[in-house]
Amino acid sequence: MKVPGPHPLAASRPWDRPAPELATPVLRLRELDRKELRAWFTALGEPAFRGDQVFEGLQRHGWTSWDQFSQVSKDLRARLSPASDISVPVITESISSSDGSTKHAFRLADGQQVEGVYMPYARRTTLCLSSQVGCAMGCTFCATGLMGIVRNLSAGEIVGQVVAMLNAHPAEGGAGVNLVFMGMGEPLHNLDHVMKAFHILTDPAGLGLSPRRITLSTSGLVSGIERLGGYAKRPRLALSLNATTDDYRSRIMPVNKVWNLEALADALLHFPLDKSERITLEYVLLQGVTDSLEDGRRLARFAQRFPSKINLIPFNPHEGSGFEPPTEARIGELCQLLAQAGLTVSVRRSRGQDVAGACGQLVRGPRKH
Ligand code: SAH
Ligand code: SF4
Repeated sequence: MKVPGPHPLAASRPWDRPAPELATPVLRLRELDRKELRAWFTALGEPAFRGDQVFEGLQRHGWTSWDQFSQVSKDLRARLSPASDISVPVITESISSSDGSTKHAFRLADGQQVEGVYMPYARRTTLCLSSQVGCAMGCTFCATGLMGIVRNLSAGEIVGQVVAMLNAHPAEGGAGVNLVFMGMGEPLHNLDHVMKAFHILTDPAGLGLSPRRITLSTSGLVSGIERLGGYAKRPRLALSLNATTDDYRSRIMPVNKVWNLEALADALLHFPLDKSERITLEYVLLQGVTDSLEDGRRLARFAQRFPSKINLIPFNPHEGSGFEPPTEARIGELCQLLAQAGLTVSVRRSRGQDVAGACGQLVRGPRKH
C-alpha cells in the first residue's frame, strides 16, 4: 500500500487563513436570525412581529416563495420580493441508495456545488451537511480534500441545505431531526457561519432542533476545538482521528503536523463536556495503513482517556486515491477488540448510514464514564 510522504500543506497552513466568502449583491433573508429580521422589518417601518412571522415561514415552514406568506399583505410582499432573496440551495441531483438514504447535490447562488445526505431511520432522521465548498485541510484519502478550498458556505446556505432536504422529503418532517456536519468542508474552519446556522436552526420559533442532536466533525483543528468549547450552547463534537501514530496521521492528515495526537488528546481532555456527553471518534479504515490490530489497541487506549464512542468508517474508494478499504474480517476483529476494551463502537457503511456490519450488530461495550 502506498503511503504518501509529508504533505506540503502542513508548511503553508491554509486553514489559518479565512476562506473566501459568498459574494452576494442582494440581502439574503435566510442569513438573518430572528432578532435581525425583526430589526430589518422595523427599519422598513413595519412592526417587529413581521420579522417573527417571516422567520417562522422561512425556517419552520421552509417557504421559498413570497406567495406562501399569506399572512403578509400583497402590497408588502410586492415590496419585499425585489429587495430580498429567500431561496434555498437548489437540488440538482438526488441519488437514493438501497439503505434508504438519499444523497443530494445542491447548486448554490454562485453556481458552486455541495452535497448533503438525507438518512431516514425508524425514530429519527439524520441530515449530513456541508460547511464549505471544498476543504483546505488536504487529507489525502478524502475526495473533498483533493479539491482544495473554494469558499465558506454562508449561514443561510447551511440552513438552506436543511430546509431544502426537509422540503424534498415532506413525509419525514415530523420525525426528530439530527444534523451532522460531516459533508464537504472543515466546519471549524468556518466556525462563525456554522455557529450562526446552529443558532438559527435551534431557535424554537424556527425548526427548534435540539443542540444535543447536532454534531460537528473536525479533522483536529485544535484552535477551533478550543473556540467551540467556549460557547455556552454548541453542537456535539466528533473528531476524525483516522490514525493512531503521529507518523501515519501526519502522512494522511497534514493538520497533524501542527497539532499532533498529544495536542489533540489535550484539547479533548479540556473540552467542557456536559453530563453524559461523549466525543465521537471517527476512524477511517485504510487497508494496510490504519487497520492493524495494533492500531486497534492504540485506538482503544486513546479513546479510554475521555468519554467517547467510536465510529469505524471503512474507506469509501474514489478514483486516484491509492487506498483500499479494509477486509470484512478485519472490520469484525477491530469491532470486537474495541468492544472488549469496554468501548462503544459502530461501523458506518456506504453513504453515511450507520448500520450493523461485520460486527453483526451495533456493538456496545459497558459504559466506562
Ligand atoms: N472535515 C470534517 C468533516 C467532514 S469529513 C472532518 O474531517 O471531520 C467526514 C468524515 O468522512 C471524516 O471522518 C473523514 O475522515 C471521513 N472521510 C473522508 N473521506 C473518506 C473516504 N474516502 N472514505 C471514508 N471516510 C472518509
Ligand atoms: Fe476536509 Fe474532512 Fe476531507 Fe479532511 S476529511 S479533507 S478535513 S473534508
